[in-house]
Amino acid sequence: MSENLTEKVALVTGASRGIGRACALSLAAEGATIVINYVSNQDAAESVKSEIESLGSQAVIVQGDVSNEDQARAVVAAAESKFGQVDILVNNAGVNRDKTVQRLTGDQWREVIDTNLSSCFYTTNAALDGMRERGFGRIIQISSIIGQMGNLGQSNYAASKAGMIAFTKSTAKEVARFGITVNAVCPGFVETDMVAALPEEIKQTLLSNIPLGRFGTAEEVGATVAFLCGPNGGWYTGSQMTMNGGQYM
Ligand code: NAP
Repeated sequence: MSENLTEKVALVTGASRGIGRACALSLAAEGATIVINYVSNQDAAESVKSEIESLGSQAVIVQGDVSNEDQARAVVAAAESKFGQVDILVNNAGVNRDKTVQRLTGDQWREVIDTNLSSCFYTTNAALDGMRERGFGRIIQISSIIGQMGNLGQSNYAASKAGMIAFTKSTAKEVARFGITVNAVCPGFVETDMVAALPEEIKQTLLSNIPLGRFGTAEEVGATVAFLCGPNGGWYTGSQMTMNGGQYM
């Protein structure tokens, strides 16, 4: 195990599956203690906890719906009360509810905006006091290529992901002087449950638009997050880490 993040505590929202799980494992492999948040899939969260422990790091699970302000704040508070600090916050929890803008309902709009974007404000706002006190923090938003280029049937998702980029830039400017960096990672299509749920025909069309000819892996995103949180990532702030196989440049 590398020692880059020993003594650091990382809270990863939506860490039970996919990209969040990979971020948790990459940070744990660098020695960080991990707080695994999930909303409903307890078995998956337990299995991530076991994987982290087998890497020699500590982990706890904190259930909570981060689209709900009280629950999101309670997740941060639980992490701080268990380990005394949150040094790294990865705002990863996300959902999509795809419909053309004409068919989209208000509830589908709000569910996606609240889960993907408002959650970033709730957790960041709750974690910043402690980061300022310690003069160190790393905040990462898992945004998306869709927030950069838009997509048919994803106006709610695209708005939430573009909002995460704008939130990242404004917050980065505000907190840089406290030793806190804030970055967005913008993956293209990554092989997780979210992409597995797409019809095969759509997957083939997507692949034909990716110059490198393949989807990304969750591990590639996790490695980028660990880099941004580690000693060599310290001069990145307010950035959009674009990783998409060349689909959008
Ligand atoms: P995924 O496999 O569907 O996993 C979603 C994760 O988020 C799960 O751990 C889920 O917990 C959690 N979650 C969902 N709603 C939540 C809530 N309200 N409160 C707390 N946790 C919640 O998704 P993924 O593909 O890994 O995507 C992760 C993030 O990357 C998302 O923000 C997504 O928009 C973004 N992203 C994905 C791709 C892609 O191609 N896959 C590309 C770019 C960006 P449970 O297990 O308990 O349900």
